[in-house]
Amino acid sequence: MKEQYDVIELLRDMVRIDTCQPEGNEKQLVNLIRDLFSSYSEDIVLTEIEHSENRSSLVIRIGPEVQGGLAFVGHLDTVSVGDRKTWSHDPHSAKLVDDTIYGRGAVDMKAGVAAMTVAALDYLNAGFKFEKPLYLVYTAGEENGCLGARAIAKSNLLEFADAFVIPEPTDIKPAIAEKGALWLRFYLEGKLAHGSKPEEGINAVEAAVDLSKLIKETMSVDLKHKLLGDFTLSVNRFEGGIMTNVIPAEAMVEMDIRTLPEQNHDRLLELIDSCINEILEAYPGLAIRLETIHNYPSLSSDEDSDFIKKIQGYVREAGLPDKVCGMTYMTDAAVLIPVYPKPFVIIGPGHESMAHQVDEAVKVESVNLALEIYKRIMKDLT
Ligand SMILES: [Zn+2]
Repeated sequence: MKEQYDVIELLRDMVRIDTCQPEGNEKQLVNLIRDLFSSYSEDIVLTEIEHSENRSSLVIRIGPEVQGGLAFVGHLDTVSVGDRKTWSHDPHSAKLVDDTIYGRGAVDMKAGVAAMTVAALDYLNAGFKFEKPLYLVYTAGEENGCLGARAIAKSNLLEFADAFVIPEPTDIKPAIAEKGALWLRFYLEGKLAHGSKPEEGINAVEAAVDLSKLIKETMSVDLKHKLLGDFTLSVNRFEGGIMTNVIPAEAMVEMDIRTLPEQNHDRLLELIDSCINEILEAYPGLAIRLETIHNYPSLSSDEDSDFIKKIQGYVREAGLPDKVCGMTYMTDAAVLIPVYPKPFVIIGPGHESMAHQVDEAVKVESVNLALEIYKRIMKDLT
């Protein structure tokens, strides 16, 4: 029997491997994880999905192929570091200061990934026999279009999974809902004219302003989700125009729409289409092209399901508040749950407000608590 795996050392090793977007280079981290499981090849089935030379995702199945399994899904990539000079510690040194580990990905989400990995390794090491399958799912490219989750959703690799745990940072609160994301880009093409003769042109910038306003008005709804709060729509990018005295022929607008579980994205896109048509009528000769950047539905799990009740029980036993909550960010669940409509919970170490920040950091205690809870979940639910 091996000595116990150290979750903090594993987390630090993971932070030291740079898996920043856009390159990702997740394969290096996949290799580290494969090495950890190499002595258990008899007990596991390991599938690596190669996306490109340096990018891959990994699915490990432990236990038999029978229904009733449990999947832990964590992403290996991180957002970029940004301006390195603004960091107090090198973002890939995994510096440990006063029980806090600093680095890009420390919270989002190498802490959760390390904890789910060590929880499973501890059971393999102890010779624990899983009666139902436990899946460890490591995805590439979550921060940029859910590359890995998409490939896994197309496979039948998780066909026996009946519940999902997403170890993203929630400060170890059980989150049972996440907002949807519908990101849209509009290109408007009008007609250039001299600024003194606007009637001879088709003003793409004015049309873009009107379109933005119309969409905001048309989509405004008085919807509130008890865990997720409000539906939101914001116009966050705008380009257009060349000079003060030129009627602009081109404009571009981007919108970030965050939806609630009761909102159907196809229905929202129909509303957007009706707005586009209204603007086209108001600006004869104008052309508008709509591009969907992201389209992920909002999700929620049934608070009264056995699975969620059990998760709340484990959190309570660990001495933590068990009240369910929602997360405004999206996860790989947005790709997997529509394909595998099963209960899911987002629960992981570290505070979500630390994700994507300069000096991203996680507390050792939080990682250890997550490990303890994941071990309970794995033992009781597989
Ligand atoms: Zn994340």
